[in-house]
Amino acid sequence: MPLTVTDAVLDGAPVGVRAVDGVIGAIGPDVRPEPGDATLDANGLALTPPLVNGHTHAAMTLFRGWGDDLPLMQWLEQRIWPAEARLSGDDVYWGTRLACLEMIRSGTVRFWDMYWHQLDVARAVLDSGVRAVVGQPILEFEGAPDGARPEDAAEGIAKLGELGARVHGALTPHAHYSVTESSLQLIAEISRTQQVPVHTHLSETGQEVQDCIDAHGCRPAHYLDRLGLLNERSVLAHGVWLDDEELELIAERGATIVTNPVSNMKLAVGGAFRYPRARTAGVAVGLGTDGAGSNNALDLLADMKVFALLQKHTAVDPSTVPAAEAWAIATGEHAPVLGGRPLGVGEPADFLLVETSGVEMTCGPLLESLVYATSSASVDTVVVDGRVLMRHRQIEGEAEVRARALEASRRVCA
Ligand SMILES: [Zn+2]
Repeated sequence: MPLTVTDAVLDGAPVGVRAVDGVIGAIGPDVRPEPGDATLDANGLALTPPLVNGHTHAAMTLFRGWGDDLPLMQWLEQRIWPAEARLSGDDVYWGTRLACLEMIRSGTVRFWDMYWHQLDVARAVLDSGVRAVVGQPILEFEGAPDGARPEDAAEGIAKLGELGARVHGALTPHAHYSVTESSLQLIAEISRTQQVPVHTHLSETGQEVQDCIDAHGCRPAHYLDRLGLLNERSVLAHGVWLDDEELELIAERGATIVTNPVSNMKLAVGGAFRYPRARTAGVAVGLGTDGAGSNNALDLLADMKVFALLQKHTAVDPSTVPAAEAWAIATGEHAPVLGGRPLGVGEPADFLLVETSGVEMTCGPLLESLVYATSSASVDTVVVDGRVLMRHRQIEGEAEVRARALEASRRVCA
């Protein structure tokens, strides 16, 4: 059934939006419901595009706060890897459902995921009503679980492709240092022939860069390029330690970098993504939270502020990343491959209605308030594919998702 939203505010003026078959059929001051439409009175709430989380491991909500503040290897070896070995597909399903609740509540409706049991992740995405590009980590180590091998990847992508239009598959080699050179070449080949994206971690720590130079005689971006993994289908998480030449190469190849400022600061990687240099080079940039194990929230609205502040602070220049630029990056406008779309006729019927009467939003322009002043509590309503997923901060089925995720979390974190 078509959905018509009335009395929303866009750029300071009242508008209506009509969604038909998941697409915006009309948007403007004169849009009125047609007979048979479902209607929603926005009652003066601001209409905005939703946010795109460019990098996460959604089901890690189950491990939130478990082993916080430990050194990285101790956290992985003593907490995360043993717990991940106990995970069932159902655990991942409920962990991902919990992640989707949190993302919907903070205005994110589309995310790029890398986690085990990709078909259960996809099922959770579809049942939650959001959109995602999902992939099983390809990781080569002794005793790696099924699906962690590159030769399984093509089959996984095909199965994901059958599930529905709101979920897509990506090839997700964990990182250049955890997958062999021949497997990375195979992944590049599958990506090229099937035209599917490759989502991977790149240059998160200084040690990783040094190890790459020692092993391959070049820095990580050059290594990926040599293997055919740097192109317009590449989504590279972190990119903290990329030098000027690597940033220029990434821009030239049309690859996207997703920066995860909160995760980088919590894990103390020792630096900030060199956004001003990436911007000058013309790199497509998106924003991500990373998983709940290393953030610990999936609140991109909050991380948008941290991103802007960290960049200003590092550059010693308050004009670095103005509010409108932070907003454009968080909504995916600066990185088309991530899938964020503007509001307009023919575009997906995905949007937020934001409460602007809260005390922190009463004075001041909308964008600046969204980036610097408000919290996710101001996201009142979320619509995806023309369907209302949250209204007045209520989401159908939330209590069950919380209960089932808690049950799974208690078992795997035993
Ligand atoms: Zn990650």
